[in-house]
Amino acid sequence: MTQRVTIVGGGLAGCEAAWRLARAGVAVDLHEMKPGHRSPAHVLDGLCELVCSNSLRSDNPGNAVGLLHEELRRLGSLVLAAADETRVPAGDALAVDRERFSRLVGERLAAHPLVRVIHEEVTRLPTGQGLVLLATGPLTADALAAELQTLAGGRLAFYDAIAPIVADESIDRTIAYAKSRYDKGAGADYLNLPLDRDQYRAFVAALLAGQKVAAHDFEAPRYFEGCLPIEVMAERGEEVLAHGPMKPVGLEDPRTGLRPHAVVQLRREDAAGTAWNLVGFQTRLTWPEQRRIFREFLPGLAAAEFLRLGQVHRNTFVEAPRVLSADLSLRDRPDLFLAGQLTGVEGYVESAACGHLAARAILDRLAGRPFRAPPEATAMGALHRHLTGAARPPGTEYQPSNVIYALFPPLPGRVRGGKEGRKLAHAERARREIEPWIE
Ligand SMILES: Cc1cc2nc3c(=O)[nH]c(=O)nc-3n(C[C@H](O)[C@H](O)[C@H](O)COP(=O)(O)OP(=O)(O)OC[C@H]3O[C@@H](n4cnc5c(N)ncnc54)[C@H](O)[C@@H]3O)c2cc1C
Repeated sequence: MTQRVTIVGGGLAGCEAAWRLARAGVAVDLHEMKPGHRSPAHVLDGLCELVCSNSLRSDNPGNAVGLLHEELRRLGSLVLAAADETRVPAGDALAVDRERFSRLVGERLAAHPLVRVIHEEVTRLPTGQGLVLLATGPLTADALAAELQTLAGGRLAFYDAIAPIVADESIDRTIAYAKSRYDKGAGADYLNLPLDRDQYRAFVAALLAGQKVAAHDFEAPRYFEGCLPIEVMAERGEEVLAHGPMKPVGLEDPRTGLRPHAVVQLRREDAAGTAWNLVGFQTRLTWPEQRRIFREFLPGLAAAEFLRLGQVHRNTFVEAPRVLSADLSLRDRPDLFLAGQLTGVEGYVESAACGHLAARAILDRLAGRPFRAPPEATAMGALHRHLTGAARPPGTEYQPSNVIYALFPPLPGRVRGGKEGRKLAHAERARREIEPWIE
């Protein structure tokens, strides 16, 4: 008889896990609450929605996330295959047309005879239904989040922010210029809005003075350092943005050959280039303030039509090293596995990778064999080290993390070539080690 697994949450982790299980011959009931109910950040009706940026970050294996892309492709990942097929130009980043991406993942799953997608909100943790995978993400609906809180003994959370998107025809092309940083990719994949020193300082002052979403909605907010709202960065110093998301290095204006003091980079949202994402411009300015400040202080956006405005959301995760076993099942409920951002991995790619990991753990459980963890020195292994606490410096608290080389075990001996040499050595070692784990 075909074995059946219940997955709750049809996002990055849930879809990847469903795919892995179905391809191994296990039937899957995938419960997704959209389109009947949605989190405050989800807007599409389909599965596997990218809620903020449309980028799966660097595709260069010299970066840990690029290495994770490579491993996932070799592992037959649905998310990576769909991303490759719906890719839009974005230098060496893997950015996608989010609607086509979501549609393609949905179609692939719907076409699989072992996958049944059920569109309903799950309000109670399923019991007595065999193995269950909970992949409801950082914005898990309230009823289920409350149950999980009881089970996981307290709930941790931080705040994550979304960047605005503008319509192509509303961008002033006499000001914006096309160029990728250091001419990567096709060389001109991004649009850039140049700011001189005075324009930049006026913008920073406006940001600091601008009205933010009322503090009581975001009591004592703790942000993820990799996704700070621009006004929080601006509070840390006047030039912080010019060294962060508005960094002009490698983005000299081809019309003058000069490097502006700062730039706003716009990344294509779709292949046709009808919409552009303000890269790194996540914010909790109120919506009227975003319209006013961005139009008044960002050159090229005076007539901007905003297709989406920035927002901030609470982001839920559990303390994985304490509440989860190495195979990502709950210590207090071994039939219930967790995957995705809920476990404290951060990012689309990491969430998909975690879904793959959890699916393999479920397959091991169904086959009655011990869990085969990924080799430690691979990107999959580094994520697993994060989840088990093996990568955490003693005495530090568990916080969500992207995949970074700091999570990998140290390289043996000295490596030539400085930082770049170490990254290459990590990638080469990972490529050797992942081999036996690929089934
Ligand atoms: C505001 C915000 C912005 C972010 N921006 C980025 C970014 O730019 N880049 C990046 O790499 N990562 C970003 N992240 C982080 C994270 O990687 C993504 O949220 C990612 O989608 C997490 O994958 P997941 O599968 O764990 O959850 P999701 O992709 O959110 O999937 C969970 C799914 O479960 C469904 N669901 C929830 N509760 C229930 C229920 N009770 N019953 C049935 N279905 C349910 C949801 O509708 C959703 O489809 C952001 C997160 C947030 C909150």
